[in-house]
Amino acid sequence: MLVAADFVPIFEQEYRALRPRAPMPPIVVRFRRYTSLNTRIRLREGQIQVSLSDLLEGAPESVVRAIAHILLAKLYKKPVDAVHNLRYKRFAYSASVTRQTELIRGARGNKRFSGPEGRFHHLEEVFDSLNARFFGGLLGRPELTWSGQFSKRSLGHYDAAHNTIVVSRVFDRPSSPRYAIEYLLYHEMLHLKHPVTRRGLRRCVHSREFKAEEQLFPQLKEALAFIKRL
Ligand SMILES: [Zn+2]
Repeated sequence: MLVAADFVPIFEQEYRALRPRAPMPPIVVRFRRYTSLNTRIRLREGQIQVSLSDLLEGAPESVVRAIAHILLAKLYKKPVDAVHNLRYKRFAYSASVTRQTELIRGARGNKRFSGPEGRFHHLEEVFDSLNARFFGGLLGRPELTWSGQFSKRSLGHYDAAHNTIVVSRVFDRPSSPRYAIEYLLYHEMLHLKHPVTRRGLRRCVHSREFKAEEQLFPQLKEALAFIKRL
């Protein structure tokens, strides 16, 4: 697999091919976490700076060469070689790349996570204290994050595919009582403990055991009343 340092000589060779007599500028190649195959090239203070999607890290050398040629040709306003252009396009449209792009987009793009540290409450701290109080410290901590939006429709959910608990930012306020956040997180932690089961065709999200354990939360009534007033 090619890494960023391997890309520089390829760019230098393609530069030489395009501009045989011009002095060789320093070339810097960086990978960025793009959700698409975005690439960027620019000339800054005599340095060629290239940003490539990390999706290209595993690309075959012929494709990297094609990209280097296309970017440099654009930068210096030279005609783009048809063979290179075709090679790159084929790669970009190939099923595996398309799929990989989609997967990464699914994981990075769709969800706007803002991390466990809110303005007033830290979800990891709340999780750890609930884990100790109600689960004997036995639950593995998933990703915890406040939602990007102040959503009142989705107050919290556990996303098993990404092993992530998302809590609505509406609870990250000084006016939000601690027990409300605790209840919300406690409910999602019960989802961790009681995975969805199937009874015939029916998915059972909140099983009898789940509901019984939810009743054990000391300020259940107060928490539900607070949520109702939101
Ligand atoms: Zn639930």
